[in-house]
Amino acid sequence: MSMPDKPKSTLALDHFPPTREAGLARLAAFVPHAGSHYAKHRNTDFGPGGGVGVSGLSPYLRYRVLSESEVIRAVLDAHSLRQAEKFVQEVVWRTYFKGWLEMRPQVWQAYLAQRDDDQATLADNPKLRERYHAAIEGRTGIEGFDDWARDLTRVGYLHNHARMWFASIWIFTLKLPWALGADFFLNHLLDGDPASNTLSWRWVAGLQTQGKTYLARRDNIERFTQGRFSPQGLAQTAEAVEGPANPSPSTLPNRVTASEALTEPSVFVVHPDDLSIYSEIKNHPMVKAVVWVQGVAGAHPWPQSAHARSFVHGVIDDWAGLDDVVMAEPDADKINAVADLVGARQWVSMAPSVGPLADAFKTLADVGPKPLVLARRTYDHTLWPLATKGFFPFKKRVLEGDSLIEAMA
Ligand SMILES: Cc1cc2nc3c(=O)[nH]c(=O)nc-3n(C[C@H](O)[C@H](O)[C@H](O)COP(=O)(O)OP(=O)(O)OC[C@H]3O[C@@H](n4cnc5c(N)ncnc54)[C@H](O)[C@@H]3O)c2cc1C
Repeated sequence: MSMPDKPKSTLALDHFPPTREAGLARLAAFVPHAGSHYAKHRNTDFGPGGGVGVSGLSPYLRYRVLSESEVIRAVLDAHSLRQAEKFVQEVVWRTYFKGWLEMRPQVWQAYLAQRDDDQATLADNPKLRERYHAAIEGRTGIEGFDDWARDLTRVGYLHNHARMWFASIWIFTLKLPWALGADFFLNHLLDGDPASNTLSWRWVAGLQTQGKTYLARRDNIERFTQGRFSPQGLAQTAEAVEGPANPSPSTLPNRVTASEALTEPSVFVVHPDDLSIYSEIKNHPMVKAVVWVQGVAGAHPWPQSAHARSFVHGVIDDWAGLDDVVMAEPDADKINAVADLVGARQWVSMAPSVGPLADAFKTLADVGPKPLVLARRTYDHTLWPLATKGFFPFKKRVLEGDSLIEAMA
């Protein structure tokens, strides 16, 4: 089966080689540092490409080239939970954001609508448009900020602290709309994720924990960039962006696990929200064919960066078996044709999480004639429903109770 052309994003892929082997090697190299070293150095931004203080695992985790369970397990095989708590807590932030948005999908839709409104305003407002372009092209004259804008477009990665400073300067110093900043990130981050990105920008803006904003300060930037940057003229106050109250969480639909779903001959559809499920299902006797979906190419809006597309395509090119089928986007007719060819009675896939892929899958489910069974990992099934309130009660339940052990069973 021929592979669609893959765009090149060389510098980003030099830093983050798009293979499961590279993800596993990065994990193995990081594990010895996941205890006190991480706790001490994780807030320091040593420059582009991740590493040194932090793991640089985010692109691998975002597309589940490595699953959260296997990363946490590898770390806890080498350290006690107490020693590695800071690191596990960060992985659990990701889980919290995923669960929070999964139970409030309207927040993603509201973000897309806000972004489109802000883009329309930009078209009508030349002064705002100039400020916006200066920001994304790295020519504001603000030390650090301009470098991060360029690093983001070139490498597709920024340290967490740089993301926080950048978002804060964007909103409170440059007075640019937060949704356009979130869009800029999603368009360039290799690990761009509807949940982590949207909700982090909302958090900086004071929309997520309502009224509580994040203000970037010169001394903090100077200290945690080891003196590389000392920007002048930053906003001294950060007034929360106004927005509606957070919606109440909805109940997540019941889902089976992949192995529970595989009770009859099936086509398994693997997609970029969970690539590593492949290693669990590829030898299952009920999996008669594997179809890899690279994304939702051509759909509008498709907030995924060229870096991210190259990364995902690279992983799939490397990993797919010779008989597997690779498609640029989910195509019901083609999947049905594969199912007929191999005598499958259903398609099975991991339910994509809130974002463009989940929207594309909604239409797939109605096509028939073969049923589409959506599955969920025990990890998500156990932890996502706990994201009903803020992160700290969530973290307490996950790290102090039995939930994490249950989730990783
Ligand atoms: C404005 C803003 C936008 C962001 N957008 C994204 C995004 O689109 N995708 C994304 O994966 N992360 C996002 N983050 C979170 C965080 O910055 C990155 O996950 C982290 O920098 C990745 O680097 P690392 O793998 O070296 O992290 P490490 O510190 O080594 O952490 C290990 C893993 O934990 C998770 N993690 C760490 N910190 C966070 C966090 N604050 N929130 C959620 N998960 C976290 C990531 O999966 C990460 O790979 C954003 C943060 C901010 C402030």
